[in-house]
Amino acid sequence: MKILCYHGVSNKKKHPIINSNGKHLKLKTFESQIKFISQKCNAISINQLYLNLKKKIPFKKKTICVTFDDGFKNNFKIAAKVLKKYKVPAIFYLCPDIIDKKEMFWVDKIESSIAFTKIKKIKIFYKKRNLSFNISTVKKKIKTIEILKKICKKIPDKEKDFLINQLILSTKVNPSSKMHDNYKVAFWSEIKKIIKNKLFDIGGHSMRHSIFTNLSLKDVDSDIKKQKNLFIKILQSG
Ligand SMILES: [Zn+2]
Repeated sequence: MKILCYHGVSNKKKHPIINSNGKHLKLKTFESQIKFISQKCNAISINQLYLNLKKKIPFKKKTICVTFDDGFKNNFKIAAKVLKKYKVPAIFYLCPDIIDKKEMFWVDKIESSIAFTKIKKIKIFYKKRNLSFNISTVKKKIKTIEILKKICKKIPDKEKDFLINQLILSTKVNPSSKMHDNYKVAFWSEIKKIIKNKLFDIGGHSMRHSIFTNLSLKDVDSDIKKQKNLFIKILQSG
């Protein structure tokens, strides 16, 4: 049994800096993978996977479970159509706070402020030091995005927000989801419409994409409880 973790599916032309790590798959690539899964594999839902494990029922050969992290709009506008066409079930893991506030993910804030700036050199204050980055070329921009993402993955949310604010000030670019379709997060209305289809489920991916290993157990517990209550409320509201 294998669990596949997707993030996004894009039908936009390739940009030199945006999506340089390939998090959003090309529509053609995604469709060929899902077609292959529907023809050659045993695609099951996360609920089925859970039941099999609980009842200790062995999985059939080539069992696959499709999952999507983060809740990007393209999951519901593009990927869901492909999944429906080939009848492949999937679960979408969402960040309720990001959806409520129509916010952008912190990784995308880093990417967009560097991708769209005209400034060639930036300074970030981190750990009592001034870090300077030369972002005069595409290659250097991609490298800086990777370095900043790596730093941010290891620090608590407050420090991360502080660092990203400095980045926004030094690049003079205020990140907006209007800058690229890949940055758009789904609305609740779009999510609710899609999950009426029995093929699809939703699950929690933390309130605002915090890295749980950077939080205390108490904070993790409260984050999960908040998500659970919110999802129940949303599902009950139809
Ligand atoms: Zn994620």
